[in-house]
Amino acid sequence: MRGGAVLLAFLLVGGCARAPYTNRSQLILVSPEEETKLGAQAYQQVLAKSRVDSRPVVVGPVEAVGRRLAAVANQPDYQWRFTVIEDPKQQNAFALPGGKVAVYTGIFPVAADTNGLAVVLGHEIAHAIARHGAERMSQTRAAQAGQSVLGAVLGSGPGTETILVAYGLGAQVGVLLPYSRTQESEADHIGLLLMARAGYDPRGALAFWQRMEQRAGGDATPQFLATHPSHGTRAQQIRAWLPEALPYFEAASRAPVEPLPVQASTAAR
Ligand SMILES: [Zn+2]
Repeated sequence: MRGGAVLLAFLLVGGCARAPYTNRSQLILVSPEEETKLGAQAYQQVLAKSRVDSRPVVVGPVEAVGRRLAAVANQPDYQWRFTVIEDPKQQNAFALPGGKVAVYTGIFPVAADTNGLAVVLGHEIAHAIARHGAERMSQTRAAQAGQSVLGAVLGSGPGTETILVAYGLGAQVGVLLPYSRTQESEADHIGLLLMARAGYDPRGALAFWQRMEQRAGGDATPQFLATHPSHGTRAQQIRAWLPEALPYFEAASRAPVEPLPVQASTAAR
């Protein structure tokens, strides 16, 4: 009873947050500082276990697109970093809080060019700036607190494994918790606006998701798709958001569109 009252007070003080652009109200019980620290730790943890590809031919376009998106993401406290991980089987990318981003080479053939890469990075950066991982961690903490374990809310924070899972990187630690449909749709929505503001044609998102879906018809569902909305729903939503995104694109200085080194993901080294 008393715990509930304290929790309620805590939620009112600490839990009031709103997602950028969509203004959706969020329950967030994790401070940006804590989130950023955990994001940096999780990033190191993943990179230590991965084959980092530092060839300029693959890092160059990821840096270039990433920097343009970072410039419009409006997160002065983030220290952006962009890394390419060599793994042709992983059609995936991620962005952790604090601006720690990685792209797997397996997504290069799907992205096809820097505009497609902007769809991928815009979506992932949107997850990070909308604090979707912190939101998921907070839901867990609130559930624990609901069972009168108030210490779970006010006590020590989660470990890096929690944030890995919360940011959908569970595959690397043995568990996989998807984002909610709401968060996925929101990442599509915000990502579309970010790419447009960075000077990438948001209409390219429709073609990108179509290419992704075509691959899904084959042997295995790409990870980037696994937890995401169905193609029909996604295309419909993107068409509905385009009138909001296109004025940003018209007003932005155009980003150069260049083909990605598709062979880079399969070439023998
Ligand atoms: Zn996503």
